[in-house]
Amino acid sequence: MINSLKAALAAGLVILSCACHGGRKASAVAAPIVAAEDSTEILPPEVCALMTAYPAFVTGFDGTWLRLACGDSLLFSSGKELSHDERLACKDIQSMFYDIYPLGELTEPPFQSDPGRYRNEDLFKAMYGHSQKEVSANLEKVDVFGSSVPFTKINGAADSLRAVIREVGDEHPNLKKYFNEPSSFYWRPVRGADRLSAHSFGIAIDIGVKYSNYWRWSNPGKEEGDTIKYENKFPAELIHIFERHGFISGARWYHFDTMHFEFRPDLILHSHLQPPPLP
Ligand SMILES: [Zn+2]
Repeated sequence: MINSLKAALAAGLVILSCACHGGRKASAVAAPIVAAEDSTEILPPEVCALMTAYPAFVTGFDGTWLRLACGDSLLFSSGKELSHDERLACKDIQSMFYDIYPLGELTEPPFQSDPGRYRNEDLFKAMYGHSQKEVSANLEKVDVFGSSVPFTKINGAADSLRAVIREVGDEHPNLKKYFNEPSSFYWRPVRGADRLSAHSFGIAIDIGVKYSNYWRWSNPGKEEGDTIKYENKFPAELIHIFERHGFISGARWYHFDTMHFEFRPDLILHSHLQPPPLP
């Protein structure tokens, strides 16, 4: 899926190469700009990634507001640097991209880097449903090596999960053991918080319970702002397969949740849009 999405972006990449972020962190103030090849419209790469990943829902940008197909508008940037806790509350769109998702080699995440944990709930509700009932209406069953797992069909999420299963089954049968006890849809808040989990929208799957590590369990008594120790038993090979099909891994988070894989083609695309590091 990501290859086709990258191809869709290709027309804009010539211009993207000179309209990049200055550093690893996305700026909360000055939105870097790109221009679509066939128009004079100027778009931040965050918007470009969202419009490409979710074309049925994200339809435009007027410099302040992200326009949705349903007629709603979401604030793109608060215009100020937000704290980690404020980003978790995620009242604007740009906060979702503050930490750039690190494709490539699997390394220990930097302090407080949680790409994907910042979710603008209004955007996810607009796409996947505002309630348990609405989300449930769009769930399909996906066969995960003998277990039937409900996953949303919206944005091609269920088909992308099927592609992961197919690639593992056909080319990496040694990785099938990591798919024991899969679980996915559950309308619930994040553990220890009042915001909805990605599992509420049918876009996340937890696998391999017996191989999993979770930051709170590995670091009893520690809170969000504390320094914690990192643990992960999932192989990079498996994480890379998920990423090729539009999923992010909770093993890439400082506040790790290694059994967690989440369909976030917006973050994967945004990562591809970053400039190479300076020599
Ligand atoms: Zn999870």
